[in-house]
Amino acid sequence: MLLTISTTAHPATDLGYLLHKNPARVHRFEQSFGHAIVFYPEATAERCTVCLLVDVDPVGLVRRRSGPAGDAGQLGQYVSDRPYVASSFISVALADVFGTAMTGRSKDRPELAASVIPLEVKLPVLPSRGGEALIRELFEPLGYIVATERWSLDERFPNWGESRYFSVTLSGTLRLQELLNHLYVLIPVLDDEKHYWVGDDEVEKLLRRGADWLPNHPAKEQIARRYLKYRKSLARAAMERLTPLEADTDDVPVAGKPTGREDVLEASLSLNQQRINTVVAAVVEAGAKSVVDLGCGEGKLLRELLRQRQLDRIVGVDVSLRALEFAEERLELARLGPAIRDKIKLLHGSLMYRDRRLQGFDAATIIEVVEHLDAPRLLAFERVVFGSAKPATVILTTPNVEYNARFPSLPAGQFRHPDHRFEWTRAEFETWAGEVATRNGYEVRFAPVGPVDPELGPPTQMAIFRVR
Ligand code: SAH
Repeated sequence: MLLTISTTAHPATDLGYLLHKNPARVHRFEQSFGHAIVFYPEATAERCTVCLLVDVDPVGLVRRRSGPAGDAGQLGQYVSDRPYVASSFISVALADVFGTAMTGRSKDRPELAASVIPLEVKLPVLPSRGGEALIRELFEPLGYIVATERWSLDERFPNWGESRYFSVTLSGTLRLQELLNHLYVLIPVLDDEKHYWVGDDEVEKLLRRGADWLPNHPAKEQIARRYLKYRKSLARAAMERLTPLEADTDDVPVAGKPTGREDVLEASLSLNQQRINTVVAAVVEAGAKSVVDLGCGEGKLLRELLRQRQLDRIVGVDVSLRALEFAEERLELARLGPAIRDKIKLLHGSLMYRDRRLQGFDAATIIEVVEHLDAPRLLAFERVVFGSAKPATVILTTPNVEYNARFPSLPAGQFRHPDHRFEWTRAEFETWAGEVATRNGYEVRFAPVGPVDPELGPPTQMAIFRVR
């Protein structure tokens, strides 16, 4: 399978500097699935073309049973289009061979790497499940002029009809880095074939490769879904993190890194520790044997929960993969003995969508999370936690905004953390929690966390819901 990229920028041979590959040579790179060869069929000052030829070894794929050919059953072992078509193998090779160019760095021509130049890509055999329409839908919003030609299944037998393979030319004026990242993401999206690379870090890859263009792409949802191979939880996590960039609101906070203001403010009270102690006590008092910590962040509460003998199943859930990585480190999961290791699990997930993995727990803890959710999304959150997951006990904490007046360094009217969407007064919290309880068949009581100010109440407020 091959792919060519041409430019008429002057002098066109600067393409070699941009790609860090000398046009005078043939470059060969071993890949896990075969090899990649880079060469320049033309290299003049007027026009320069680079060709990436990816040679997939189909026998090797079957032997390793890791590639799509290996998964496609008996027939798939013998009939595979993979060696001939542009697919995720091209993406893997692009990242490996042109990795530096994809970051936009160029040692010798930094100004050229940063400027838009005329570029033309040819993909002689691009599979598209979604036809020509999808090819246009994906590339035209990015500013490409798209020309396609459809391959028939077999030219000798026209009545067999058309194939899903297209010969595609994309032309545009853009930075080479952008073009490479578009191809990296969109080729597998069009192909929509099972490829072997989808793991949890694909969300990060998609967001990194798509950072500059995906948030504003009209088909971003379809792109995320297909790129992440319809793994709904991953696609959701990606969407949640893609949507925000559009508007200035709704950035999902990444816990795990020291967060700044809130930590500093509350440190004087060692409020965090008090909160953890109070919540652990409430979990124990509820008689729970299993608990899920929703929005677990870097896992401070999880670590304390692990010390409770009463608990035999502990799960932490967060939408942020980075937070979960920090949690994994903090809990030193890799070093725990097998008995304790079996007790605890970290899950990547969102509180905005029903998730069966959240069902069947005695208790759920939701510590300093709701104030990070957009107010209009609270109803979705309520349905997920109280309607679907439905643990017998829900322990939820949130700041008491009235107490903010007792933090001298916090300007009046400001929240404790820049990502907070709201902070509630005691009355507001109690009204919301009361309504949630009534709507979902729970009863609720409230308890203070931290030193109670006679006038303003405690710094943190806690609600304990119990199913009726
Ligand atoms: N409970 C932790 C972390 C609080 S910070 C503690 O008390 O230390 C809020 C956390 O909620 C962050 O880790 C953030 O990633 C997570 N979060 C925000 N929106 C979420 C959502 N929709 N689904 C799951 N987690 C979410």
